[in-house]
Order: sequence, then C-alpha cells, then structure tokens
Amino acid sequence: MEISKRFSLAKSTLFSGLLILGSTLAFAQAKEASDVSSRALAIHNSAIVIDTHADTPQRFLDDNFDIGSTDPKDFGHISLDKARAGNLGAEFFSIWVEPETNQGHFAQHTLDLIDSVYEQAARHPDRMMMAFSVDDIERAHKQKKLAALMGIEGGHSIENDIHLLRDFYRLGVRYMTLSWSNTNEWADSSGDIGDPKIQHHNGLTDFGKQVVLEMNRLGMMVDISHVADKTFWDTIAVTKAPVIASHSSARALCNAPRNMTDDMLRAVAKNGGVVDVNFFAGFLDQNYWNAVQAQQKEQEAATHAYLEKLKADGKQITFADEDRITREWMAKIPRPPFMVLIDHVDHIAKVAGVDHVGLGSDFDGVSGATPAGMDSAADLPKITQALLDRGYSAEDIRKILGGNVMRVFKEVERVSRELQAQPALGK
Ligand SMILES: [Zn+2]
Repeated sequence: MEISKRFSLAKSTLFSGLLILGSTLAFAQAKEASDVSSRALAIHNSAIVIDTHADTPQRFLDDNFDIGSTDPKDFGHISLDKARAGNLGAEFFSIWVEPETNQGHFAQHTLDLIDSVYEQAARHPDRMMMAFSVDDIERAHKQKKLAALMGIEGGHSIENDIHLLRDFYRLGVRYMTLSWSNTNEWADSSGDIGDPKIQHHNGLTDFGKQVVLEMNRLGMMVDISHVADKTFWDTIAVTKAPVIASHSSARALCNAPRNMTDDMLRAVAKNGGVVDVNFFAGFLDQNYWNAVQAQQKEQEAATHAYLEKLKADGKQITFADEDRITREWMAKIPRPPFMVLIDHVDHIAKVAGVDHVGLGSDFDGVSGATPAGMDSAADLPKITQALLDRGYSAEDIRKILGGNVMRVFKEVERVSRELQAQPALGK
C-alpha cells in the first residue's frame, strides 16, 4: 500500500530533486510492450511466478470484492482469471492496517484482514489455496492453483506484543514489513522521518531488534520496505536470516525515500536477500514522482473535502471511496512507459546481482498508477518478454519471476529450524 489520504505519498521532506535521470533514459528507449512471443510465453509459463505484495485484502474486507470476479469493467489488478492469464503462481496478500482510523485496535483489524484472505480461499477451493511454506507454493503450482500467502505491512499490527507476533505467525503470516509509512514505537519509517513532530528512535529500538530476532526464529521473513534508512541498516546488522524488500525500487533511478540506494542493494545481496520491484509509477519514474509532489497539497484538500462530504451524507468511508478520488488525481499525471519498470529490475540485477531481484507489484495499492501496459496480473508475461529482449537467460528470468523469493523463503525456513533447535530467546 502506498497511497492513503492520511499518509500521502509525498511525506518526504527528504526529496532533493537531484536525480532527473531515470525517466529521460526510459523515454529514449521506450517500446510498447504489448506483444509477447511464444518463446517468452513458454519461459514465463515454465516459472513459478511470485508477487510479494498486493493490497487486494482491502477490497476483500471493505468492498466485499470476490477474487473470482469476471467483471470485464473491474479495474482491479488481481482476480483469479487475471492471475491465471499472467501465470501468477503465488501472491503475498498484504495485511495493511491503516494506522489512524484503527487507533486502539490494530490487532483486531489485522485479524479481520487475515480472515478476508482465508474466506476468499474457502470460496474458491478449486483455484486458490492458502500457503504457508515453500512446499505449499510448489504444491499449489502442481495443482494449478493460486497460492495465497500473507504479509503484515506495518509493525504497529503487533501492538508492541511479541506474543501477538507469534500468534500472527501461527495464523499463517509469513512476512512482516517492520514499518509502514508511519513510525511505530520500535521502528522508524521513511514515510515520516523528516517530520519533527514524530518521535523517532534512530532506527530500531532494542525491542525492535528483539522482534527481528523472533521473526528469524519463527520463520517469518523480515521485510525492510518502507523503513527509514537507519532502520534498514540496524536490521541488516541484527538479522540472522536473509531479508526481503517486498515492494521497493531503486533510488538511483527515482529519488523517492521509499526506494533503495545502491549501497542498500549491495547490502541485501551480501545478506542473501531479495529486493522485489514496486510497480508504482511514482517510485519508478522521476517525472511522475515530481508531479505527485507538485499536486500533493491540492490533492489532499480535494480528498479531504470529498470524504467529509460522504461522511456528512452519513456514509461509512470505505477503501473504494479513498481509492476512487486518489485514482482521479493519479490519472492527471501521464503514465510512464512500461520500460521504466524493466529499468529498475535491470538496475537491481546489475548492482545487487540477478540472484537478488524479484517482483513486488503493490497491485491494488497504487490507485491505478502503474506504467503503461501494466494493468493487471495478466500483463506479467510482458516482463519476461522485456527481459528476454535485454538479453537475460531463461534461467535468470525464472529467478527474477519467483526463484529468488523461493530461495530466500527456503533459507528463512532453514534458519528458523536451526534457531528453534537452540534454547528459546525471548519470552
Ligand atoms: Zn506499501
């Protein structure tokens, strides 16, 4: 999830406007990615394709969206048909708890969202199954079902309680993003690091470090997307297992604080982890990011007025309401070409190595603001075509599409078994 009226995209007082490089290059080499060759399709369909971040649970819970929907007018990025068309094998559904409206009951809302994923799987047992391990993902793939996994987006969900962290693991949560755009009581976020009104901790607190170690012990992947730079470095220093960035792109190409510097990319490589590229246009294309910043004030005022009017009319505000108005504002900015997405994959593959890059779309969390031609999970084969065009081997493409995430997940499971064979760490 990137876009919300309360913690809007443009929180960064860090933006320096130094790098205007990404989009210019991308436009120069722009090519419409619409045709996928039979060779590309064969490679794509030979892979277990894994996406590590989609916000569809907001739609499940708030808007009663059915993942089995066949409505051709539905603008959502994820449905079972779209997943099938794009050979999406596993989706990590994001369990994202909006931190302002859910004050005082973060854990309860976390449980509601977890339930919404299970309910979808129960409704479509022939095409979808809950998955909790590397073995489960492989099993689902063999049965031609979408493997549904879950990741908590934002450490505030555990309400500073290590017992709740363990309970969420038992319910099937297999990664947790240490913070969302809000700094919580133990991890600083990139979303508000420049805001002097927020109490920061200089990265991770001692409890935050304990959370990371307990996640290692449980076998829950540690996700460093959204965190402040210092939180990232603290996490790298303390973790005993590889980390993931479930939905982050490269700062060298688009200077947004949510993106990762080349030093961070190299550190993740050294740690054995994986950086899964976010498809949000504002994190891929500098022009788009600048345009979002430029309209931020006006957008916030309009959004506020719109939602206040709905409230005055006695309407309960849903995710769809917020998304509707945000879409209107995102649509004012021209979408960057498809190739900007590939530029980020390529950059991370070159800086960190091809073993350390994957896909973390942020589908259904960016209010339609993806590069041109990337309109849903059905468009995933275009990535394979574009990588093939850039000279990537079939083997490397399969790593990027999901193999790298599988390797990291497997290693996290192995480290967990090893740590559990030792005496317990914390209470
Ligand atoms: Zn997010």
